[in-house]
Amino acid sequence: MAKKDTPAAKKEEAVKNNWSLLAGKELDAALAFSDGYIDFLNQGKTEREAARFIERAARQTGFKPLSELKSAAPGAKILLSHKGKAVALAVLGKNPLTAGMNLVASHIDAPRLDLKGNPLYEDEELALLKTHYYGGIKKYQWVTIPLALHGVVAKKDGSLVEITIGEKPGDPVFTISDLLPHLAQDQMAKTMAKGIEGEDLNVLFASRPLPKAEGPAVKAHALELLQREYGIGEEDFTSAELEIVPAFPARHVGFDRSMVGGYGQDDRVCAWTSLQAILEVKKPAKTALCVFVDKEEIGSAGNTGLQSLLLENLTAQLLRFTGSTDYYDVRQALTNSCALSADVNSAVDTNYPSVFEKRNNSFLNRGMALTKYTGSRGKSGASDANPEFIATLRKLFDDAGVRWQVGELGKVDIGGGGTVAQYIAYFGLEVVDCGVPVMSMHAPFEVTAKSDIYMTYKAYKAFLQNYTGNASRN
Ligand code: MN
Ligand code: MN
Repeated sequence: MAKKDTPAAKKEEAVKNNWSLLAGKELDAALAFSDGYIDFLNQGKTEREAARFIERAARQTGFKPLSELKSAAPGAKILLSHKGKAVALAVLGKNPLTAGMNLVASHIDAPRLDLKGNPLYEDEELALLKTHYYGGIKKYQWVTIPLALHGVVAKKDGSLVEITIGEKPGDPVFTISDLLPHLAQDQMAKTMAKGIEGEDLNVLFASRPLPKAEGPAVKAHALELLQREYGIGEEDFTSAELEIVPAFPARHVGFDRSMVGGYGQDDRVCAWTSLQAILEVKKPAKTALCVFVDKEEIGSAGNTGLQSLLLENLTAQLLRFTGSTDYYDVRQALTNSCALSADVNSAVDTNYPSVFEKRNNSFLNRGMALTKYTGSRGKSGASDANPEFIATLRKLFDDAGVRWQVGELGKVDIGGGGTVAQYIAYFGLEVVDCGVPVMSMHAPFEVTAKSDIYMTYKAYKAFLQNYTGNASRN
């Protein structure tokens, strides 16, 4: 009898799968939990849309901006918005803020194609849009798929025009062309990195000329339509934030409907699970705080990313609301806090086993991935979590019935990646990465497992509501 056929080995294998641990009402809950998530993915394809969804959900469950709140009593639910692209939700705890908070930080930006400042041009009577990709993409994945245009155009008169084309039934969509195989002999001999180049990601926008136009008539027609339907002219593109994203909706995946496929799951799956968790938090001992931030995919720079003073400023805001303007209290509140850097990890892809190390990478349906460190080439760039902190989380998750697994990104020296953990650690918080394993990460259609989504929600909920681990051991 081979070892894998022994009863003990079979038992070990079976218990690794979340579904074997879920039964009855909880099994139904785990399956149903992703219905709302699919809706969130479809309604929040950009950071602005996701932020708006989060704000709306928060308001519906009693979160209010500080200006509308009268009491800073334990249980007060606070909504802080930042430039429409980052959001923080806090539930004040019974302990003072200086005793530390429980923070869950996710990001709501995702890889995509942004329109350039002067995007529209005509070539051989076709109107096209120049793009500059945002985040780490495999460019060949973005051609010959239906694409939608989402975003805002800020006009000189101070107004903001919102544009969403390609989502409603009957809407047109856009696409990026690719060579037919018959003429692709040279292209097919290139590496996958060079087969489609950044400057080739030009979006097919229009093809009908404006009658009697002087000069490029198709572009003139497109501009006329833009003026008529949205009141915007060509120069307005220079003050726009227009994003090209996949036009198709998120879907249930698998014959057994056990998975979710869709765009932007990195990291909106952690945004969704932490949102659902904090919406249910009631009068925690330590203040519960969820932040949903922007710009992670390009290094968390910029004034809506976590390399900015965002976290420090909102801590100061909360302290001021609870009666303290002592700057040292900001330091204390942060350094005494504990954080989950809520971001996805790669799920082992059995089509490409050579890049994974199966003892230390995460798998679909084996629970939330707990990632002690990220980085590359000898952990470079990693925030390596302290084992004392992880031990307290192991206890918390195990006591709460959360299935979790360890997860590095892949084999040593194969590649790597980073998260917001290092920018949180900067303030002295205990922090560790944990989130949902994703297959085909950064692709237009990423895949996650519903049981992992449910387990991750349970983990965030247990942390935000019940975690009392004391970070300071000095
Ligand atoms: Mn991410
Ligand atoms: Mn990412």
